Formats: sequence, C-alpha cells, structure tokens
Amino acid sequence: MTINGMSRRAMLKGATALGALAATSGDLLAQGPRRAAPLPPRREFVIRGATVLTMDPNIADLATGDVHVRDGAIVAVAPRLNLRNVRAIEGRGMIAMPGFVDTHWHLWTSLFRPFVRADVDAVGYFPVSNRLGQLMTPEDSYRSVRLGVAEALSAGVTTVHNWAHNVRSPEHADAELSAMRDLGIRGRFAYGPAQGMPDDQVMDHAGLARVKRDWMPGDGMLTLGICSRNVGAMSIGGAARGVLTIEMVKRDWGGARALGLPITVHTSGPSPIMQLEEAGLLGPDLQLVHPLLTTPEERAILKTRGVSYSTAPTGEARRPAAVGVIQLGELLEAGVKVSLSTDHTTNYNCDPFVGMRVLFALHQHRIGNKIPLTLKRLVQLATLDGAVDLGIADKTGSLTPGKRADIILIRTTDINMTPVGDPYEALVSLAQPGNIDTVIVDGRILRQSGKFAALDHARVVREAREAALALQAKAKWPT
Ligand SMILES: [Zn+2]
Repeated sequence: MTINGMSRRAMLKGATALGALAATSGDLLAQGPRRAAPLPPRREFVIRGATVLTMDPNIADLATGDVHVRDGAIVAVAPRLNLRNVRAIEGRGMIAMPGFVDTHWHLWTSLFRPFVRADVDAVGYFPVSNRLGQLMTPEDSYRSVRLGVAEALSAGVTTVHNWAHNVRSPEHADAELSAMRDLGIRGRFAYGPAQGMPDDQVMDHAGLARVKRDWMPGDGMLTLGICSRNVGAMSIGGAARGVLTIEMVKRDWGGARALGLPITVHTSGPSPIMQLEEAGLLGPDLQLVHPLLTTPEERAILKTRGVSYSTAPTGEARRPAAVGVIQLGELLEAGVKVSLSTDHTTNYNCDPFVGMRVLFALHQHRIGNKIPLTLKRLVQLATLDGAVDLGIADKTGSLTPGKRADIILIRTTDINMTPVGDPYEALVSLAQPGNIDTVIVDGRILRQSGKFAALDHARVVREAREAALALQAKAKWPT
C-alpha cells in the first residue's frame, strides 16, 4: 500500500475531499492503513500427532492424528498424512480443535475495567459503560476493541461477533472494524446505535450501508449485521441501552433486512418473543441474546422460525434469580439453535472453558439427566454451533477439509490438565486459557507457545491503559 505513511485523520479528510473517488474506491480510503505489524503469512504446514477433535459430525475424532493446512484452508485430517517437505508443527501432548466461536461480545467496553465493580450497583457495568461510552473517541474504540480481540485470541476464540452498540460516528465504526482486521480475527461486526441515543431516533442505515460498501465483501474474514436496541421493557441494563416499540423495531430491522443483513437483540427482561412473532419479525437472520425467560410455546416458535439464541453463562449466572435462569436444557430439548458468548470482559475475563463449565454445572444443578447434556455437546456449542448461529459454518467451526483453518492447540501436559483421559472431560472440567499453546486463524499462526507472533502485546496494554485514564479524566470520574 502506498498510503501506509498517511495518518488516519489525513486519510479521512482525503476521503471526504475526493468525493466521487471515495465512492468508487472507498474500501481502501475508509478502511485506512493497518496500525499493527503485518499479520503472519499463510504458510503450508501439518500439525503432527495431536489428539484431534474435529467437531464435524461426519469426521471421527482421532486419538492421534495430523491436520494439513495450505493457503489458509484445511486440506486433510487423518491419522497419518504422508507429506514431504511440509513444515511440521508438533502436536504431541496437545488437543487440536477448531477455535471457539464467540457469538456476542461488546468489545468496545473492554477499557472500563478500572471503573466497573461487580459488587457495587452504582458503578456496575451498565451505568459505567453508558456514561463513559458517550465520551469515547474513535481512537478509544480502536484501543478497546483491540484489547478485547487480543484477549479473545489469547483464550482461543478465533471468531467473534462484535456487538457494537456504541457506533457514535462513521469513524467509530471504522475504528472497531480496523481493530478486528489488524489483529486477524474472524468475525461479524454488528453495527449498532450509540449510547445515549434517543429511543425515537432511527438507527443510522446510511452509515450501515456505507460500511457494507466499504468493508464487505472483503477477504471473507469480516461480515456485517446490526445490533438492535431492546424490544419492550428491560429489567437489566435499564434505559441505558435504549428500548424500542414494535413500530421502531420495524424501521430499524427493516432497513437492515433491505441490505440483506442479519440482526441481533438482547432479551434482557420480559420476553419480547410473542410480540415479535405477532409482528412477523422473527426469522433465521435473527439472533436473540440471554435465554432466561422463554416459555415452551416461545421455544417452539423459535425453532420453527430458525431463530438462534446466544447464552453468555458467566454474566448470566450473576443475574438475580428474578430475571430468570439459563434455559440451555430447555432450548436444546426444543431444538432451538444455541451458541455461547462472553458478553463483555469488564469484570470477568474471556474464558470459554469456564463458560462451558458454568453451563454444565447449572444444568446439572437444575435439570440433570432429565435432559441429557454431554461434555462434547458443550464443546460443539462453543465451536460449530456458534458458526451455524453466525451463518459461517461453511467456513469455520469444525476441522473439516475445505473449511478455513481456524485451529487451536491446547497443551495437555500442563499441571492442571495432566494426565489426560477423555479430551472433552479435560476441556470442560480442567482447561483454562493459559493452556492454549497455538492459535491459528485463516491459516495464519497468530499465537504460538502462548505468545503473539506479531502483535505488540506491550503496546496493546500501554495504550489501553492510557485511553482508560484519559476517559477517566474526561469524565471527572468518579464524581
Ligand atoms: Zn450483551
């Protein structure tokens, strides 16, 4: 790129001044230059001798097996591949599996860790992120999303659904997308409203269309959707996140659907499912979040309409009993599509293993064998079913030849894992992000031996801290 040396501000000015040119070659102009070291190249390699969990219902797991990757794609999975002159990655003592697919994560709130308290309502997640969110610059958005994506990759998440409900300007959208692109993660950007936006203000469909034009389709790494304000009353989050009437929902969602884009919405509080059904708004392009208060009738409708539900167990388990319980067993029994998510990382960390562990524990606690739930099913929910939810199961979610190579290697020789018996038992009952040795996205080895291959870890940390402190000063926090 010849424009690498140009500042982002200059580029955005240039994009405006160039007008017609921007409309034709807007992708380069709007996206701006990379702000991180080049991503590692997509090399050809073979992972040798790992315990391979394919998560593909048609391809058996292998106690010992090889995975061949070329040009960013999985070429073959077999007990022993006869390949010469192909770089080998040691898989012995490792579990090889598809990377986790996280289907709902507010990456823009990652900066708020110094301010949020889990045990003090006044400075809980919602009031803090609502107040500080309204002060965020595009640079803050970039640094927050970059911090969150860095944590995602560290925890073995190779696809993230970035639930961006603080798109304050086109530059904020570009900043969030740039951070995802710069770090090399796969994901969907769910373009949202902004914190503090009046409920009667229609979402920015022109901005959404611009992102679609400027950023999609790219290289298949990023896709686009919208995140909606809530429907009807809320008992969690309060008015901070916005509440829409059905008429407003029709306008906001209609604009997205006209662009062929999927939709996600929280159902925090009384269930809006019957209202949405009566208005004819449910469909397979819709993801709901937080399955806590559905009825059997509603679950049957969700199955019929092909709606998926994302559960974020770590945060949901902290909610008061009055707002419902995690209905994983009920949803699976009804045949509703389910996926797993982190939600945010302001007052807990990203840990897909803990997510699965919490779900299993609560299921055993509340339902048990009345609705069977295997550990393998949980790992499938965290991988393949997430890809199904996001509509990208043809690209990721399982170790299937032809799919893109989104693979993680987990050390089974670590103290908390060894000696390993059943690999699913190890993943759900024992593993932690620190056991993840290697993270590969689209054939690029982004992390190896537990370290980033290219990303400047110290810079991510330093600039996140600086941005958080600047926001604190701007907000005159905590006054
Ligand atoms: Zn959420």
